[in-house]
Amino acid sequence: MVGALALDASTDSAGPSGAAPASARSGTDASQVLSSPTASATPTHDPAPSAKQKPLSASGSSASPIAPATTPAQTLVKGAASGSPIQKLFATGSEVPSDKKLLDIFNPNSSLVLVNKTHQLSPLKYAPKDLRAPAVATGSQEPGALRAEAAAAAERMFTAAAAQGVNLTLMSSYRSYDTQFNLYNSYVAKKGAAAADTTSARPGFSEHQTGLAIDIGDAAAGSACDFTSCFAGNPAAQWVAAHAHDHGFVVRYVPGAELKTGYLAEPWHLRYLGVGAAQDMKVRGIASYEEYLGLPGSPGYK
Ligand SMILES: [Zn+2]
Repeated sequence: MVGALALDASTDSAGPSGAAPASARSGTDASQVLSSPTASATPTHDPAPSAKQKPLSASGSSASPIAPATTPAQTLVKGAASGSPIQKLFATGSEVPSDKKLLDIFNPNSSLVLVNKTHQLSPLKYAPKDLRAPAVATGSQEPGALRAEAAAAAERMFTAAAAQGVNLTLMSSYRSYDTQFNLYNSYVAKKGAAAADTTSARPGFSEHQTGLAIDIGDAAAGSACDFTSCFAGNPAAQWVAAHAHDHGFVVRYVPGAELKTGYLAEPWHLRYLGVGAAQDMKVRGIASYEEYLGLPGSPGYK
């Protein structure tokens, strides 16, 4: 399937203005709806601590209050499955943000927020309040902005890549609900909703609306592979695949994880999760954020 469509519905396609040269991105960013009726990304809210506790007597009498002092808090990341890799990371305590409200995959202000075809942003029209344009090389007319933390991380990442001779460019970043609304509907007008869903993300369902996602280009390689599967062969793609995690970003849609993410591979689309989570995901060799959270895949819209 590679090669056919490489759409990033998340939306990379089209530029922010919605008037993107679709031609240039044919096959781009439009993630496909990877069929599957089993759209069930219902987060499992941690049930009970599964720490091995001493069997309290077979009598089974409830035994409530015996909570070993050593048992780590179980609801570290709201929405993540109990025992999931991300829970294990935060259980160590070293990466826990000072503001615990940010340990919440439903919180759009958290760098851990989960956005996919079954996890829309809430509120649907969420707009970050701390957007700024990162001071990095750009490769499009509307490279956009990022949330402050992600912008600073992107600057560090672009600088690190340049130091190794790889010239990343910023193609696209934040896209508002309205921008995505117009973009999505322009596709609907052209080819109908079903087809639009294969080429453009629905508003409220794009990671780009979080201000934590970027699409990159490669200044040295030219634009021929921008937003298409052959971008994977460019030095920029290879560099970010190997190093983005050290700057808090992950390549969000990788080959083989399509049924988890709902998107075909997009070697140009990076998502900021914060250094702790991004590095941990990389070290554990986990391909998708959904798996890292211990959640079911999100192959299509509900
Ligand atoms: Zn993207």
